[in-house]
Amino acid sequence: CGIVAYVGHREAAPLVLKGLKRLEYRGYDSAGIALLNGNGLKVYKKKGKVTDLEGELAGKELHATIGMGHTRWATHGEPNDANAHPHYSFHRKLAIIHNGIIENYAAIKKSLLAKGREFRSETDTEVLIQFIEDIQENTGSSLEEAVRLALQEVVGAYAIVVISEDNPTQLVAARKGSPLVIGVGENEFFFASDASPIIEYTKDVVYLDDYEIAVVREGELKIVTLENAEKTPYVQKVELEL
Ligand code: GLU
Repeated sequence: CGIVAYVGHREAAPLVLKGLKRLEYRGYDSAGIALLNGNGLKVYKKKGKVTDLEGELAGKELHATIGMGHTRWATHGEPNDANAHPHYSFHRKLAIIHNGIIENYAAIKKSLLAKGREFRSETDTEVLIQFIEDIQENTGSSLEEAVRLALQEVVGAYAIVVISEDNPTQLVAARKGSPLVIGVGENEFFFASDASPIIEYTKDVVYLDDYEIAVVREGELKIVTLENAEKTPYVQKVELEL
């Protein structure tokens, strides 16, 4: 039920965990974090509170300047560690966090199962990230393009953020029917379900619209529609005052 993501020069893990706590008022049953560094893409997730997740993280090497976190309000699959987000793709190259519901997940899952893909959770969300990876592997397209093609087939509501082991400067996000705010700092970007995790770092925000995909790569923000029309990001001062 809450999303926080960061790419820039700060330590991502403490920033993301703090942001998740700011979103706790939205309610949730599980929490998780994905971090990307020289050792690859790592996911830690747990049923329970953000403080339970922090307990799990104690003593781990968490250095990363790109990462994302999630608090889950289960809709598909009971609240447990496996169903908590982030979810890896089948080959663990990608990870996703998602708020919302993929309504046609069963049909997509069926076609992926027929291709020999296996699932580690009962969630609609894992179906989406496996679908994105499948498209990437079949077409050789970029992550941005694979996300766009996948979302064209999706019925439902979502705010998502995806990261890829192949590019440690890149975050791809999208929304339809679930909120997503992008904080624009100096060579750093923040993504969150609302501005409360962002405002201590920057007041400059872009409110992503439905059917838009935001791509941060090498310090640049680009927005495209699901039909691949590029849009100039509209940066405004944050509306929320806390
Ligand atoms: N439908 C997804 C799940 O059950 C996301 C739920 C949420 O919005 O937190 O895992």
